[in-house]
Amino acid sequence: MSKEREKIFKDARRILVKIGSGVLTGNNGLDREIIENLVDEIADLTKQGYQFVVVSSGAIASGRHRMGFKDKLQSLPEKQAAAAVGQGRLMRVYSNAFGKHDLVVAQILLTMSDLTDRTRFLNTRNTLSVLMEWGVIPIINENDTVAVEEIQFGDNDNLAAMMANIMEANILINLTNTEGLYDRNPKGAKKSRLIPLVTDITDKIEKAASSEADPVGMGGMKSKVIAARKVTAFGIPYIIAAGKRKGILHDIFDGKNVGTLFLPMAEHLTSKKYWIAFTLRSRGKLYIDDGAVNAIVGQGRSLLPSGVLEVDGDFNVGDPVSCVDSNGVVIAKGLANYGSQDIEKIKGLKTSKIKQVLGSHPYDEIIHRDNMAVSKRVQRSN
Ligand code: GLU
Repeated sequence: MSKEREKIFKDARRILVKIGSGVLTGNNGLDREIIENLVDEIADLTKQGYQFVVVSSGAIASGRHRMGFKDKLQSLPEKQAAAAVGQGRLMRVYSNAFGKHDLVVAQILLTMSDLTDRTRFLNTRNTLSVLMEWGVIPIINENDTVAVEEIQFGDNDNLAAMMANIMEANILINLTNTEGLYDRNPKGAKKSRLIPLVTDITDKIEKAASSEADPVGMGGMKSKVIAARKVTAFGIPYIIAAGKRKGILHDIFDGKNVGTLFLPMAEHLTSKKYWIAFTLRSRGKLYIDDGAVNAIVGQGRSLLPSGVLEVDGDFNVGDPVSCVDSNGVVIAKGLANYGSQDIEKIKGLKTSKIKQVLGSHPYDEIIHRDNMAVSKRVQRSN
């Protein structure tokens, strides 16, 4: 057992498990045996005192098989229709499997817009916490039937990364159809090697993740590593492991060296800043000068009008916007205290001039530091 793993699993209580389509479905649709094996493990660990939330894919794949389509569906309405067929079937399998252990399941279907709205985000959090208090196992999926591009999570790797914040998970386990992250494409190159531990998500790690060909689910390894970047920035350890391997969850909890473990960043974002950084989409950009970059990144200060050079986009008060440095790199993301038209008028000015120009002076800052996420990892994910 490695020291890192021992430490992580000793105190973990709230566990988020994401199970991919490639794990749950085989040539004949939903693979009941695999699902039952995983459920047996989750049920056993639940009885040991762990609290589980499951993000499960498999609705589209299940619906597609039920309707007799051999190939992947191409159009969005077809995928949405397949999800409508498959989601109920998926839940029935989970409900029966957990039922054998006297455990109750709950279905939660979400779109991105449920989480970008702060009130709905908090409502989802409250519901989830009641379900966990009741000892129910929440099974979460994207509400594929209604989700169109603007409100899509994109894939369940991203959805799980958002859920990790909502449920305040101690660990996120991403079960997929490979053993973990390899240093190069395991199907192509001869000498690919499983990476057991990632302490920092470097360019090399990202490159390794991009080499995978044609994933079964939507995301593939690339989106798993993007999710890892987010989750570890929130201080949560993240494991990618093989969902079909018998006893995988117990192996993980026993601290065995399976899968790829991504260690959390030492300095991490609060829940609200995580939400700003990764759940909200930027509505515009503020190009800022070097002095402002230094104040924000180096000294943890707010963004003032004097540091703004250019405004890009049409946004309102409270909207999320990105702060971009002179190299075009996003160095922070935050909620704007002024709309784009007003910032256009006060950019480059001293704070004391705001009232004179706008007629009122509601805030000193364009973005207050409490509403701003600044992180090496935020930069790369925008
Ligand atoms: N929500 C999709 C489904 O249940 C899966 C998305 C994914 O594979 O990431 O079929």
